[in-house]
Amino acid sequence: MIDEERRGLFTSLSSAAKGRTEERKKPLRPPYCGDPSLFQSLCPGCETKACAGACEEEIILIDEKGIPFLDFSRRGCTFCDACADVCEADVLSDKSLNFIDTNVEIDILKCLAWQQVMCNSCKDPCLEHAITFLGLFRPEIDMNRCTGCGWCNTVCPADAISFVPKKKD
Ligand code: SF4
Ligand code: SF4
Ligand code: SF4
Repeated sequence: MIDEERRGLFTSLSSAAKGRTEERKKPLRPPYCGDPSLFQSLCPGCETKACAGACEEEIILIDEKGIPFLDFSRRGCTFCDACADVCEADVLSDKSLNFIDTNVEIDILKCLAWQQVMCNSCKDPCLEHAITFLGLFRPEIDMNRCTGCGWCNTVCPADAISFVPKKKD
């Protein structure tokens, strides 16, 4: 009975972990979009892909379907509005939506600080002061402050910060 319970627990933990991995693979879209379904319906037919060319941070890439997604590996979003200014199809049209639609998480198994190694690299680039350390070694992200800008990710030496889109497009 105990083995069955344990098997059931491992099965549910493993499918939950698999689900989280799948979630993390979902692409992050640019800001300023009120209706994420527009990325699928309008972007493939957009000939200019002007959002990608306008982004000075060069974080907007175009996938194989012709849809823009964000790459936070080198730079983050400054919410400069440039992508919205050039999107003639008005996929990116609501400048009040100046945040990335994502949950941001620190993997405590990868994070150096959570492993008792002195590191606070992610804290300084966070202009929203959304990353706080409990004591010296336990960074946490306050999603009430976080805009999903991605700058913390660009400096994390352990690749411990992940972005999970809230809405599927
Ligand atoms: S410019 Fe607008 S319509 Fe064209 S790919 Fe970018 S978001 Fe889509
Ligand atoms: S708001 Fe500016 S920095 Fe952010 S994705 Fe658009 S163009 Fe790039
Ligand atoms: S993604 Fe969030 S936690 Fe990271 S730097 Fe931007 S606002 Fe701060």
